[in-house]
Amino acid sequence: MTDVSIVSCKSYDAAEVRGALEKALAPFGGLDWVKPGMKIAVKANLVGPLKPAAAATTHPAVLKTLCDALSARGAQVVVGDSPGGLFTAGFLAGIYKATGMHAIEGENVKLNDCFEEQEVAFPEGAAAKTIRFTKYILDADAVIDCCKPKTHGMMAYTGACKNFFGTIPGLMKGEYHYRYADYTAFANMLVDLAECIKPRLCIADFVWSMEGNGPTMGSPRFVGALMASENAHKMDILGAHIMHIPFENVPTLVEAHKRGLIPESVAEITIEGDYEGFVVPDFKQANKRPISSWSGGNPVINRLATALLASKPMPDKAACVGCGKCAEICPAKAIEMTDGKSGRLPKIDRKKCIRCFCCQEFCPKGAMRVHRPWAAKIINK
Ligand code: SF4
Ligand code: SF4
Repeated sequence: MTDVSIVSCKSYDAAEVRGALEKALAPFGGLDWVKPGMKIAVKANLVGPLKPAAAATTHPAVLKTLCDALSARGAQVVVGDSPGGLFTAGFLAGIYKATGMHAIEGENVKLNDCFEEQEVAFPEGAAAKTIRFTKYILDADAVIDCCKPKTHGMMAYTGACKNFFGTIPGLMKGEYHYRYADYTAFANMLVDLAECIKPRLCIADFVWSMEGNGPTMGSPRFVGALMASENAHKMDILGAHIMHIPFENVPTLVEAHKRGLIPESVAEITIEGDYEGFVVPDFKQANKRPISSWSGGNPVINRLATALLASKPMPDKAACVGCGKCAEICPAKAIEMTDGKSGRLPKIDRKKCIRCFCCQEFCPKGAMRVHRPWAAKIINK
């Protein structure tokens, strides 16, 4: 039985994407499970008002091909996401427009226009026993996770599992960052989201990925592939491998493995496709292995190691325009805007900062960098 498939897709040309998607889905029986009248929610990655060429969001060509195929089978499709910021029609309108989402609307296919929320109990969750979801996800008969594998300042890698953080409504995400402030707790919460939603299918737009200062302000990096799977975590094992990110550097993979959900190497999953041919050995990473994963869980060592070695957000004074967006979004209220010689600048209270990297993710100018101390670079290349 195939765990993950990976196929070549060298561009966003409609015919090429259609052929690649059919091939990627073939090991899983295509879309034969889709029945007329079925309500399907497609969870895209629409992290911000960024053009498709920025490679931060799921490309509209992939979403359109998928949605057209679902619509042809008579499904009622809703495509959505809730990035950081407000979960309102007005806020999402700007994101839909910038990310090219209107191109995918059609018969039986609409962009999410329901901004209700609903809390559900999840007693089997390791971190999150109750979860407040965006309601359109809960209303669906099946969820398709259509993610964009990229680097990520906090979690090193964002793919199928991390994509589910966008099922938590807008500003509630800040509260979740604070509630699950430790990297292990945060990763476990993300794994809980994926386990609670249990996507019927996962698809990864890996034609263009993002390296460096991801998930919003890195550089596009060509990979030339689509991936498909029925298991979000197994697809992430392969995604991280393609981006040359070691398994142990990705907290969601580590926690999913500890919970017995996945093996711990790409060699232990069944892959359809010549995946080694897609690996990018010099893929620039946003962050390295989190401190908590190599301090042995000892709180004293962890505190010391964190002080000396942990990556931290650092404003780039030359690029910062003093807009204050980082201070607005910071869930720990650790950023104060101050008046310096060169204008308004963010000042970070290191004692309050929980290193969630929301400020880095949502800075519109890419001016909040992930700073790795020299000691960390030497010890943890
Ligand atoms: S969001 Fe970015 S540009 Fe705006 S104040 Fe913060 S660091 Fe500067
Ligand atoms: S300063 Fe940045 S990394 Fe620190 S808590 Fe605030 S948003 Fe998160």
